[in-house]
Amino acid sequence: KAQACVVTLPIGVLKKGVVEFDPPLPDWKSKAIADIGFGTINKCALLFDHKFWDDSMDKFGYVNSDPEERGLHFLIHSYQHVAGGAPVLLALSSGSAAKRKDSDTPESIKAQLMDRLRKIFAKKNIEVPDPIDCKVTNWGNDEFSYGSYSNIVVGASGEVYNRLAEPLMKRVFFAGEGTTRQYLASMHGAVFSGLRVAGTIHTLHCKSTESRLRLLERNAVL
Ligand SMILES: Cc1cc2nc3c(=O)[nH]c(=O)nc-3n(C[C@H](O)[C@H](O)[C@H](O)COP(=O)(O)OP(=O)(O)OC[C@H]3O[C@@H](n4cnc5c(N)ncnc54)[C@H](O)[C@@H]3O)c2cc1C
Repeated sequence: KAQACVVTLPIGVLKKGVVEFDPPLPDWKSKAIADIGFGTINKCALLFDHKFWDDSMDKFGYVNSDPEERGLHFLIHSYQHVAGGAPVLLALSSGSAAKRKDSDTPESIKAQLMDRLRKIFAKKNIEVPDPIDCKVTNWGNDEFSYGSYSNIVVGASGEVYNRLAEPLMKRVFFAGEGTTRQYLASMHGAVFSGLRVAGTIHTLHCKSTESRLRLLERNAVL
């Protein structure tokens, strides 16, 4: 009965098919959902009681000799400046290493990262203390995301984002990072897509010509 509905579900959730559409999505929309990629990147944040690294660097990396493990904690950000001075290191894992196994626990992931940090800092004769807190993400298994963000898989093109953004019957609209071809996989892309859909709905359903014109002017600036 609503004039408009906006779907901002993550592509991972749409791919899983856990949300039922009635009537069902048309084939071209389901195909777009199948055609786009949705990968996983994960983080492990460690809080220490003091800083032992050189925080004049924003980040440092580690290249693992085992190709299977190459994505594991490959990039480590110094978050002291963004965490209000708290001595925090935040490690990223990508590729196959970001896919958490059943045997992975926050404790085992923390232990892997600590092992890596100790290897890096042993070369500088710096002792790495035990962290006082740890947070680990698991986006691939999170029922509200089933992954991190979209990507264009081999054989697909940016055109798939246009199909994902296409509304149905001028009533069901789609927004979110996976609907923005220019700014895919980003926070600002998700925000812009929300503005795009809000503008479209306003233009379609707003009765006042004056406010429509104001909106069009604003969109032209955007
Ligand atoms: C580890 C990581 C690092 C990133 N780094 C950056 C970066 O440096 N810069 C950048 O610009 N972007 C980055 N991103 C990407 C950015 O976070 C996303 O592109 C953006 O948050 C996507 O916004 P969205 O609104 O499309 O989706 P989301 O923020 O995922 O919002 C979707 C919403 O739908 C809800 N939902 C899901 N399922 C259901 C359901 N069944 N019923 C009801 N609600 C549901 C979810 O709870 C969520 O609130 C990163 C992402 C990750 C995971």
